[in-house]
Amino acid sequence: MSAKNPGNIFIISAASGTGKTTLVSRLLSAHADVRVSISHTTRAPREGERHGEHYYFVGTAEFEEMADAGGFLEHANVFGNYYGTSLTGLKALQNEGFDVILEIDVQGAQQVRRALPEAVGIFILPPSFAELAERLRGRGTDAPEVVEKRLRQARGEIEQSLLFDYIVVNRDLAEAEAQLGAIIRAHRQTLARQQNFIEHLLSENF
Ligand code: 5GP
Repeated sequence: MSAKNPGNIFIISAASGTGKTTLVSRLLSAHADVRVSISHTTRAPREGERHGEHYYFVGTAEFEEMADAGGFLEHANVFGNYYGTSLTGLKALQNEGFDVILEIDVQGAQQVRRALPEAVGIFILPPSFAELAERLRGRGTDAPEVVEKRLRQARGEIEQSLLFDYIVVNRDLAEAEAQLGAIIRAHRQTLARQQNFIEHLLSENF
């Protein structure tokens, strides 16, 4: 890691219930050189969520002010709340040489692809709709009609997976985590990421 070699950006999106958050937290535990960008949101914290760790929880006025001032790389309204990726937070992590994960929805993913074409898009898919339905029902947090609504939304989100670079099917957590890790490691070997090394090598006298 060096200041000359900023980290890669990985967008990770999925339909809700696909296990994205669990996968990302496992990935972070296993890779000290990967960080997740902490988003700003106007939604209320859930039990156990802490400001500055899971999200920066802010009011609507503060969020809108930040958006108007151009403080977000992307921002979107998801299920009635604002979510956004702050530019300063992202740049700080990248400049320290960390590979950065943006765990964001498909609307945000499209905005990032337009602003930063070098960002790598990864979409996590459930193995089947039947399994997704089972996982959503199994959470026990949503009424049956809410589960039905989420499943219909999931179809629309999954259709957006065609716009991503990589697809990981979450059949088995350990296997999906290994696939994610492989994608991240492979991107460290791209020409763009190794250009500094090549220049350094060619500048050597022999
Ligand atoms: P939750 O409220 O369950 O934490 O997240 C709801 C959805 O918002 C998830 O799909 C999550 O990935 C997405 N999300 C979280 N942070 C951001 C963000 O900064 N930007 C966008 N566009 N979506 C986000």
